[in-house]
Amino acid sequence: MASSGLFHVVDTRQFDRPMLDRLCRLATHVRVLAKTKAGAQGLQALAPDRRAMLYFTQPSTRTFLSFNSACHILGMQTSEIRSPSISSEVKGETFEDSIRTFSSYADVIIMRTPEGGKAARAAELMDSIPRPVPVINAGSGPDQHPTQALLDIYTLERSFERRGGIDGKTIAMMGDLRRGRTVRSLSYLMKNYSQVRLRFVAPPGYEIRRDILDHLEVHGVAYQSTSRLEDVIGELDALYVTRLQSEYDDSDQPGKADYAAYSIGPEQLKNFPADAIVMHPLPRGPELDPAIDNDPRVMYWRQERNGMWMRVALLAAIFELDGSLNVN
Ligand code: ASP
Repeated sequence: MASSGLFHVVDTRQFDRPMLDRLCRLATHVRVLAKTKAGAQGLQALAPDRRAMLYFTQPSTRTFLSFNSACHILGMQTSEIRSPSISSEVKGETFEDSIRTFSSYADVIIMRTPEGGKAARAAELMDSIPRPVPVINAGSGPDQHPTQALLDIYTLERSFERRGGIDGKTIAMMGDLRRGRTVRSLSYLMKNYSQVRLRFVAPPGYEIRRDILDHLEVHGVAYQSTSRLEDVIGELDALYVTRLQSEYDDSDQPGKADYAAYSIGPEQLKNFPADAIVMHPLPRGPELDPAIDNDPRVMYWRQERNGMWMRVALLAAIFELDGSLNVN
């Protein structure tokens, strides 16, 4: 909770286990309610007095659509700007003035930017003005993607529902871990679960950054790093695959990666445990072979849908609608 008393969602380090469990319960509750006409109407009656501003200046398909749908499920109205070229930023308006302007028309600002740190700046600004509104980070450059991490947690919890949940599981994250914000945000959340073992599988030069490893060490989360999927595939409960984040290529570039070794297809699945799951935040690149799309261990299509329910849950928590939802 910020100094303004607002519930901003900026960085996954802000979440503790009770909050994660509350959001998962809420997501399941709204998912079940929405299956009936009466339930769906009840949900729509929860927030018709709230308006959301979706400010997405970096490409997005799933996050935008699922937030947009989540708002509408709760009866909220939405406005959107999806390119800085059609906002007053082209006339030289500062980022701060744009955000403050959005807060004049909306009750929540949901934002994605190509640069890191912008959602945090927007939240800070809100905490200093007379009519602040909560800010939700829908992806801030290569830095954080907290709502993706929440939907990933929900997917993991649902997948391991009959196996004790996330506690005690071995989870590998594979690919461009250096620049993948989804992996960074999800790794931060692992401190909330007991006896989780992380395996980081990355090509040389694309390893997860030291700040994440420091965080895991401080919180006693066990991890191992390797450049070979075959070293760990047989011991996994979940494999989280990611694409090469080439939009962040710069002069700091570690050189071309042999990304073919970091892909998953029918061949790799032969050594993958029968009750383990494959996740991917999507969009996919060549690292995710469509030939496995209908394997029962594949969860990426469910992740998309879970994302919508988790975002409904998050908005409900932000606006303190749990009471009206009768969730214990
Ligand atoms: N959709 C995810 C993100 O926005 C993953 C990706 O783009 O690779 O970070």
